[in-house]
Amino acid sequence: MNEKKTFLVDEKGYYGEFGGAYIPEILYGTVENLKRSYLPIIESEEFQKEYMELLRDYVGRPSPLYYARRMSEKYGCKLYLKREDLNHTGAHKINNTIGQILLAKKMGKKRIIAETGAGQHGVATATVCALMDMPCVVYQGALDVERQHTNVERMKMLGAEVRPVRTGNMTLKDATNEAIRDWCCHPQDTFYIIGSTVGPHPYPDMVARLQSIISKEIKQQLQEKLGRDYPDYLVACVGGGSNAAGTIYHYVDDERVNIVLAEAGGQGADTGHTAATIHAGRLGILHGSRTLVMQTPDGQIMEAESISAGLDYPGIGPMHANLASQHRATVYSVNDDEAVKAAYEMTRMEGIIPALESAHAVAALQKMTFKPTDVVVLTVSGRGDKDVETYLNNKHMAGEYGNF
Ligand SMILES: *Cc1c(COP(=O)(O)O)cnc(C)c1O
Repeated sequence: MNEKKTFLVDEKGYYGEFGGAYIPEILYGTVENLKRSYLPIIESEEFQKEYMELLRDYVGRPSPLYYARRMSEKYGCKLYLKREDLNHTGAHKINNTIGQILLAKKMGKKRIIAETGAGQHGVATATVCALMDMPCVVYQGALDVERQHTNVERMKMLGAEVRPVRTGNMTLKDATNEAIRDWCCHPQDTFYIIGSTVGPHPYPDMVARLQSIISKEIKQQLQEKLGRDYPDYLVACVGGGSNAAGTIYHYVDDERVNIVLAEAGGQGADTGHTAATIHAGRLGILHGSRTLVMQTPDGQIMEAESISAGLDYPGIGPMHANLASQHRATVYSVNDDEAVKAAYEMTRMEGIIPALESAHAVAALQKMTFKPTDVVVLTVSGRGDKDVETYLNNKHMAGEYGNF
């Protein structure tokens, strides 16, 4: 039998050779239960009604699809920006946390845990826990707790308990290990809200589905604006991969649509100071998933480095690892200075200050060539208010825009 090729997950939880669920024995029952439950619940009418109402009235969806006139002229294409920066809490992450907390409630869970690096996912989780009156514990590397002070205060104000993690490098991967440890101790009553398309199956698929509202809206919005429901190019940044997964979800098997992913090159993909996992990583297992991982020759996980805290992850979602290895997606590595410059450019040309993460997607435009008729949709995953200090401290990277 010839099965239709798909870039979505298979029934075993794999994307090609990537994915799966590599978990400690003690979590087996919990993850199996989640695997059995997530699709029937997410696809139920009751869930969809609550989820869509919250996305509309609480998050503020649909997010606009904005025609960027000046940047379109500059790049010689029709550039549309998918404005996830306009969501409540300022990024796409809330689409996922709302969905997962609804799922947790329907599964009878009483307690929420999460890991966070920069604190963005921690804030999105603490937000929905306040909304749903659920106790919330967020694990964060002690170094990140120091570096991301404002987000820590936001989480606390929202009622979450932030637990600083002092093992390892005291950053995201250590926080993730600690969250998994907590989950192992409380598998019955606790729901672990993962913030990206990473972790053991079914998380990558579950998060991709909860973010797929982005491409569902893009389809409708393009149809309304242009009379055709697909673009020539989709462009998104990738940390773990959730905003990209949401952007491409309904187009991933549509060969008319080119997929462009921008990962964080840091100081350069070959410098060792990078978060460009697809360029610099090797096959390994990280946080329950078989995927590309940045590691030393003897298999130690390397610390990711990027000016953007939200892209600072030494792994990548299994879906994206497969898209890259099958050449379904074109992946650019965008360095710190290129991202900062692109952020200034978007700020001055469109009056939109993007998140540093999103600025990596913007910078990818410079590496591409277009026909004037090409329709390009670029997802602005978040707003840049949180990054203004970094932008100002790095004015010297902004070229002609830095003279102020
Ligand atoms: C967290 C974050 C990202 C990176 O995460 P993905 O799962 O790859 O989307 C990108 N942009 C913003 C604004 C973020 O907060």
